[in-house]
Amino acid sequence: MKAILLAREATALQIAAVKRALMNDGAAGLNLLEGDRKVFLISDPADEIRLDEYASMPGVEGVMHQEDKNIRVSHDVPSIDIESGIEGLTMIAGPCGIESEEQVAIIFDYLANEGLRYVRGGAYKPRTSPHDYQGAGKSGLAIASDIARDYGLQLVTEIVDPRDVEPAARYISMIQIGTRSMQNFPLLKEAGMSGLPILLKRGMSATVEEWIGAAEHALVAGAATVIFCERGIRTYESITRNTLDVLGAAALKEKTKLPVIIDPSHAAGRRSLVIQGALAGIAAGLDGVIVEVHHDPPSARSDAAQALPLADFTRLMQLSRNIRAAMTEVASQS
Ligand code: PEP
Ligand code: MN
Repeated sequence: MKAILLAREATALQIAAVKRALMNDGAAGLNLLEGDRKVFLISDPADEIRLDEYASMPGVEGVMHQEDKNIRVSHDVPSIDIESGIEGLTMIAGPCGIESEEQVAIIFDYLANEGLRYVRGGAYKPRTSPHDYQGAGKSGLAIASDIARDYGLQLVTEIVDPRDVEPAARYISMIQIGTRSMQNFPLLKEAGMSGLPILLKRGMSATVEEWIGAAEHALVAGAATVIFCERGIRTYESITRNTLDVLGAAALKEKTKLPVIIDPSHAAGRRSLVIQGALAGIAAGLDGVIVEVHHDPPSARSDAAQALPLADFTRLMQLSRNIRAAMTEVASQS
């Protein structure tokens, strides 16, 4: 992977001249990235291009021979507003699965009153057993998207099958890629091609570098942005459902400007530990939280043990706001 980093003050004419020269030199796979800096990305440079000669062209700041291939992840800035619920954070909540019109209406009404803009609800549930509830499918998605629209909410849902991306896209504002699908490259490509933002859960056995590579796939395919989501990984420890890797997520933030949020529900596996996990993520400087809530947790058809009752979600919001405010205050003093 090679790239030409343009100077902040490069003019349109200078940029056009660099592009012309690259094309004359036979550059293939040319891509102009518009992040916080403009970069020409050359995925497949013809052998004869002597990129170092470009370093002295007007408007060029430098030539990068990227050892790190994941230039989109390291360069992109989020291009959409994903603030939800608390200033500067992305708070997302909703049931694990969409179950009924009544269930979705009660929960979304509550979350809208909490000031959320993004809500979740799974319609295609990837379950460990084929005998468990598999989700309400497209009809459930249609119901949830109508109710979300009534409350001015944006719906996030997991897609498991690349064939569902296109039919689901008109009902949702963000595609969730689940832990079991993180390295399903055809799915990442299809999801990216929808142009929607992607909430990318970390594979339960994936390293942070593999997670970054998955995000790069989605971005290269056209995803509006990627929101990374740490949801716990498999370790020898079984006292929680998964081990919440807060520092792994914080370390990822050193490598990308894209948002990184935390899902304490699937890490904890039980509601008594969900709030602690969420707050740990916020205190670690992550960009938000996604949690599972239910108006009647014992009756939830999937992930009942980890569903937060609605009143507990209000408590989570208050505590999150307090931590965020404390962090902002300390930052303003230093
Ligand atoms: C979910 O969000 O309901 C879910 C199945 O998540 P994960 O892919 O993290 O297990
Ligand atoms: Mn779930």
